[in-house]
Amino acid sequence: LDELVAAEAPAPGLVGRLLGGDEPRRLVDDALLQGLEDLLITSDMGVDTAMRVTANIAEGRFGKRVSTAEIKAALAEEIARIMTPVARPLPIYPKRPQVVLVVGVNGSGKTTTIGKLASQFKAAGKSVVIAAGDTFRAAAVEQLQVWGQRAGVPVLTAPEGSDPASLAFEAITKAQNEGADLLLIDTAGRLQNRADLMEELAKIVRVIRKKDPDAPHNTLLVLDATTGQNAVTQVEIFRKIADVSGLVMTKLDGTAKGGVLVALADKFGLPIHAIGVGEQIDDLAPFDPDDFAKALVG
Ligand code: GDP
Repeated sequence: LDELVAAEAPAPGLVGRLLGGDEPRRLVDDALLQGLEDLLITSDMGVDTAMRVTANIAEGRFGKRVSTAEIKAALAEEIARIMTPVARPLPIYPKRPQVVLVVGVNGSGKTTTIGKLASQFKAAGKSVVIAAGDTFRAAAVEQLQVWGQRAGVPVLTAPEGSDPASLAFEAITKAQNEGADLLLIDTAGRLQNRADLMEELAKIVRVIRKKDPDAPHNTLLVLDATTGQNAVTQVEIFRKIADVSGLVMTKLDGTAKGGVLVALADKFGLPIHAIGVGEQIDDLAPFDPDDFAKALVG
């Protein structure tokens, strides 16, 4: 029963863990600041960012007794300041179809995110086409077909193991002929063979540029919040193999509070277009820096 209760209790945020909430006012001394810095680091914020945020909290408060509420508010403000410039919805291009390439490791939530995006755009009156470009995983193709049905959006598929670039070419041709507003292209996420994946993505881009020299208009990297600091490595790798233009972070509905997003914003400055907050079709939300900072600080 204890375990059950513990599992259901909301995970405390950063300041909750640091201060425990029992003392209304705390002396801002080296010990407190060190504890804060350690917490920020263990919440995946990255060492450099954690040190800078801590230094900013110390400024004007060192040696003073301040309330827990003030520490919380100051911390949330620091985090929101870092996150505000990257909170940007997916830019809408006037040119049709807008081509969005979706990349990320398997399991990160690419398929689900494509389904959610398709549904949102469809609901906004846009016509959408999906290309099931992960032709190596039959399950991924099937899953995308299910999402397409839910969203009421056609999903183009190709036989298992066939060339995803041919499918992408077919898809952009169809989207152009039909005057579609948006083409979402799923891609493989096998990082085991990076050179192959790089070549595959490069070929998709080459081929779709034959139909539209500006495509893809966005390359979205989907990251899983539960992988923590690993997301930094994923951004580094995917930036080498694709021209990543923005991020979507999934699974922020669980216990993972996504502290790594702060490190990512600080390090790469890539826009965060949306966050995944569940497994259902409507569970894709705009990224709100203030809400995010408050949830993280707790
Ligand atoms: P892909 O391999 O990158 O295409 O990943 P999927 O879209 O298949 O997602 C992998 C798993 O994560 C599935 O079980 C999804 O239901 C789940 N998932 C995706 N996004 C979210 C999210 O925002 N929240 C939660 N809780 N689960 C998610």
